[in-house]
Amino acid sequence: MGECPFCQIIQGKARAIIVLQNEDVIAINDINPQAPVHILFIPKRHYENVVDAMEQDGSVVERLFRAAIQYAKSSGLSDRGFRFVINCGRDGGQTVPHLHLHLLGDRQMTWPPG
Ligand code: 5GP
Ligand code: ZN
Repeated sequence: MGECPFCQIIQGKARAIIVLQNEDVIAINDINPQAPVHILFIPKRHYENVVDAMEQDGSVVERLFRAAIQYAKSSGLSDRGFRFVINCGRDGGQTVPHLHLHLLGDRQMTWPPG
């Protein structure tokens, strides 16, 4: 996946601020944060979106949530609450075609989303 920006980061070919990493997940600060905390939890293996990931290996989605919840608890974010977002496809507003879970927090969120 030579052109994929997240694969480039995972392979160390592009820079990012890494906040957490384990065997199969990397978490980075979003380059264009929409909240004081805006972290992307990304599987190291390339899946285009959440549907593809679920079809190929559903446990990868669980591992993303586990890593993100571990971070939310250990950082204290889960005390006040936070928001998870997974955009999928064109209408979902997905702009990077490599599955990622957004963790947004440290401000009051509003609803509905845009
Ligand atoms: P999507 O719209 O696909 O759900 O989210 C893509 C997110 O990735 C956006 O919030 C965008 O700011 C972020 N992003 C895109 N390219 C890069 C990059 O090269 N580095 C980092 N850290 N974030 C990126
Ligand atoms: Zn990729």
